[in-house]
Amino acid sequence: MKRICVYCGSSPGSHPAYLKGARDLGNALVNRGLGLVYGGARIGIMGCIADTVLAGGGEVIGVIPKALADREIFHTGLSRLEIVTTMHQRKTLMADRSDGFIALPGGLGTLEEIFEALTWAQLGFHNKPCGLLNIQGYYDHLAAFLDHAMDQGFVTDDSRNMLMAQTDPGQLLDRFAGYPASKAKQTA
Ligand code: AMP
Repeated sequence: MKRICVYCGSSPGSHPAYLKGARDLGNALVNRGLGLVYGGARIGIMGCIADTVLAGGGEVIGVIPKALADREIFHTGLSRLEIVTTMHQRKTLMADRSDGFIALPGGLGTLEEIFEALTWAQLGFHNKPCGLLNIQGYYDHLAAFLDHAMDQGFVTDDSRNMLMAQTDPGQLLDRFAGYPASKAKQTA
């Protein structure tokens, strides 16, 4: 693995633990020599993880659509900022540039992005690991809902188990390193 794509909120969230989680993940990436691919903004959780990886000397690639570049206040200090035309190009490029996908706490954009990566994995379009960094229990309800969807026969065990969840970024990255051999062993 060379780079991890991190989806996360353009807001900081209402509890300082979310920003701390972003810093912890950023440091864990740097410690493992992994680069960051993300949405290119300098605000919210997005800006926090980018700043952390840059401060640690790591590589950060941001990908942002032109129409959003001003609204999301793009980061001017990245290793590389790629400006694209559409949201679909953004997501495709972010996926192509990375070897795994992690969602930190975030809103609708974050959820849409991690679920797209997960559905692509489910369909076999890629074989890269997907995970949630479950800071402060933020994703507990989502994990419970996915278990419900599995119980109700809409999501297979294999697909459910493709979405790894950990509270500790190092443990999540360790599981990524063992993927896909370990893919069905643990869930949220
Ligand atoms: P949010 O989690 O809503 O704060 O958004 C996090 C990031 O996801 C931001 O960079 C948004 O531009 C992006 N985003 C919002 N909606 C979508 C979408 N439909 N597809 C992909 N990314 C999105």
